[in-house]
Amino acid sequence: MLNRRTLLKALPLGLAGTTFSLSFSSLIAAVAGEKNSEWNYEAPEDWGELSEEYKACQIGRQQSPIDLQTSIESTLKPIEFSYGEIPLRIINNGHTIQVNSNPGNYLIIDNEKFELLQFHFHHPSEHTIKGQNYPLELHLVHQNQQGYLAVLGIFLKQGQENASLKPVWDAMPSQKSPEKLIRDVQISLANLLPAESNRYHYFGSLTTPPCSEIVNWVVFQNPLEISVAQINQFHQIFPVNARPTQPINRRFLLGSN
Ligand SMILES: [Zn+2]
Repeated sequence: MLNRRTLLKALPLGLAGTTFSLSFSSLIAAVAGEKNSEWNYEAPEDWGELSEEYKACQIGRQQSPIDLQTSIESTLKPIEFSYGEIPLRIINNGHTIQVNSNPGNYLIIDNEKFELLQFHFHHPSEHTIKGQNYPLELHLVHQNQQGYLAVLGIFLKQGQENASLKPVWDAMPSQKSPEKLIRDVQISLANLLPAESNRYHYFGSLTTPPCSEIVNWVVFQNPLEISVAQINQFHQIFPVNARPTQPINRRFLLGSN
């Protein structure tokens, strides 16, 4: 008999952060259910057909990512960060390279606290700016007490080697494999943020099945740099792990400094 812990470990990327909205029985269905609920990036337009659990991917009206076009300029409160250092716990889950966080690192948006769960990468970027993408996009995934998510999206453009990400790149597993702890390596989370705070805000979804519409998205306008060699290394493992952009429909895109 699978226990809850085993199930949570076995869940694909994205599901682990959304278990609050899934009953225990639906968790079993998600894991043990139809074999074809395995998803990939070859046909993201078909995700909604793979499983009842993934219906939002197809019929949702607030899906992510989106093309970031004209935004409504607004003066939002600055995001407060309480980011320290974390040990490097890294996993190739078959869909991305992910670094799992330790408790105690969080941010506050609109007086609401969201704990950092993990960060991971997409190649090329999932969000686009006026139709253009960047080589990579970093996602820092945070969760509040009700189970809603705040995800920071940070673009990476070709340039200098990214020294803050070097330990992650050095440890990056090329094959799907369980989480491993890299001894004596610490990641300084604040170094993963751009110096400028200009950002976009909108409400959207997970960009992987089950595409749950529970995400307060914050995408930074200014990219960080990453070298060609670093981009190529990720490309070798994940030629494409980005969902195409989705219609914005009746949502607002806010811009703030
Ligand atoms: Zn992501």
